[in-house]
Amino acid sequence: MRAAGPGAGPHPGDWEVPGARDGCGCEEAIDRLFEYLDSEMPESDTARVSAHLAACHGCEDAAGAERHVRELLRRSCLESAPETLRVRVVAQLMVRQVRGGAVAD
Ligand SMILES: [Zn+2]
Repeated sequence: MRAAGPGAGPHPGDWEVPGARDGCGCEEAIDRLFEYLDSEMPESDTARVSAHLAACHGCEDAAGAERHVRELLRRSCLESAPETLRVRVVAQLMVRQVRGGAVAD
């Protein structure tokens, strides 16, 4: 929920070009990758992560890998994959997420 009235915005940074100055770093991009891929992120944050992925090959690769895994998972589900496969894939994703956010306390 956000105020839509003119001049009522409590966030003066909203109008800034996404990623131009306060762009997200690799840590945040990886940390929020699932949020991003799940489209569960506010539009402003999506733009920042998107801008970072476009500029950072490492994170772009990571996002591409996650998308690939999701695609495989989706296909597997259509073919009624055994539950163990899902658990295994999810476990791998968890490991990655933990690694990516290990620095954050
Ligand atoms: Zn990066």
